[in-house]
Amino acid sequence: MKYFSTRGDKRALTASQSIIKGIADDGGLYVPEEIPSGGNISELSNFSYNETALWLMQKYFTDYTHDELKGCVDSAYNAANFFSPDVAPLVHAAGTSFLELYHGKTLAFKDMALSILPHLMTTALKKTKNPKTQVILTATSGDTGVAALEGFKDIDGIKIIVFYPENGVSVVQKQHMITQNAKNICVVGIKGNFDDAQSEVKRILLDKRLNEQLDSNGYEFSSANSINTGRLIPQIVYYFYAYSRLGSQGAVNFVVPTGNFGNILAGYYAKKMGLPIDKLICASNENRVLCDYFDTGVFDSNRPFYLTSSPSMDILVPSNFERLVYEISSDNVQERLTRLSTKQRFTLDVPRDFVGYAATEREVRAAIKKVFAQGYLIDPHTAVAYTAQEKSGERGVIVSTASPYKFTKTVMTSIDDKYERYDDFELMEQMAELTRGSVPVQFCGLKGRDVVHSGVAEIAGMEKCVLEFLQ
Ligand SMILES: *Cc1c(COP(=O)(O)O)cnc(C)c1O
Repeated sequence: MKYFSTRGDKRALTASQSIIKGIADDGGLYVPEEIPSGGNISELSNFSYNETALWLMQKYFTDYTHDELKGCVDSAYNAANFFSPDVAPLVHAAGTSFLELYHGKTLAFKDMALSILPHLMTTALKKTKNPKTQVILTATSGDTGVAALEGFKDIDGIKIIVFYPENGVSVVQKQHMITQNAKNICVVGIKGNFDDAQSEVKRILLDKRLNEQLDSNGYEFSSANSINTGRLIPQIVYYFYAYSRLGSQGAVNFVVPTGNFGNILAGYYAKKMGLPIDKLICASNENRVLCDYFDTGVFDSNRPFYLTSSPSMDILVPSNFERLVYEISSDNVQERLTRLSTKQRFTLDVPRDFVGYAATEREVRAAIKKVFAQGYLIDPHTAVAYTAQEKSGERGVIVSTASPYKFTKTVMTSIDDKYERYDDFELMEQMAELTRGSVPVQFCGLKGRDVVHSGVAEIAGMEKCVLEFLQ
């Protein structure tokens, strides 16, 4: 299987080359030359998560040997990294089904891919005899940063720099990032929002002069953002896994809380591979750029930006949308991609695979309260998806992307105003009490940890941060 840039560069890369590079030189994203067929999926019903992952990834990462891929899969999805024996359990509650993707180290779905990406990358470096130290630049709306730090810390031959919007991540996410202690990591707050940070990271990654300077010092840039094929492909796995656990013969809907369009795009790939998915329901928060596109066929990022209680979805320029535009445009692909990356509006016929619904902040809080009354606790991102399902009038598998313990303030105050006076960390205890559960081990002692990274920079200062860290 070869990989090509969405922006027209004709050079073909192997899977391992595309994983190391992250983004193409022409600014495009790598896509497989074709979406492979899933073949006979009935055999999957007896597969464990790891077996499903190996089965799927062998179809895409064809230059890895069976043993190499199995090594990556087993190093990622094991009891040290995932605190559920199923890895991604399917839970039936509140009259619907939730695919819980938050049992990894950082309690969000980013762990599903970022726990395996470091192994795919180090294996790829060995295979291609690449001697360069990889410098991973990441912009995060919160969850990617923590999960990437957990995945890449103390990995030889890799350094990682994470930029997060100073005022755009939760207290718990921030504490998790700025207290990470390892020699090969750097974490910096940014005066700007996620889209600003993401576009500056893209610019730095492609800056010719900077790349030459790094090269002469034995470094090379890479990316752990969801544009990396080493993140996209592992995300296809859980759609197959969930379906195999449903025991249903017919087509199902998946409802996906969407920000950068990586998760739901993986669902689209699963559908193209032959998994019986009827609709992919794209759930947006008040930053409803995608939902509006699926409603109207007009894509327009040029609109006000809102900070919401589902910060990982506060995105107006969803980078993985480029891959869908590439897949479904029958003409004018390059013009649309230029318009997408420069925030100009464009039109594109809506594929029948998708529908979109958005949730307001008030609806998110009402959904958390309503679902809790039925004995199940959801986080604000999952509540956006729950609301979208209700508005669609259909049933589906709700993709649950974060643990409620990550967003205690919103969750607990949605249930009862009396929790207003506690801080996020106190509320973890209260949440455990309320649900007769316990605070996830991943968060034990988090509050007391020492701050290691206190740096804050302007967008224009990000490049300088990179150079200083590499000195
Ligand atoms: C990243 C994230 C999302 C959005 O996923 P995309 O792949 O960016 O669309 C939704 N919920 C949570 C909790 C996340 O961390």
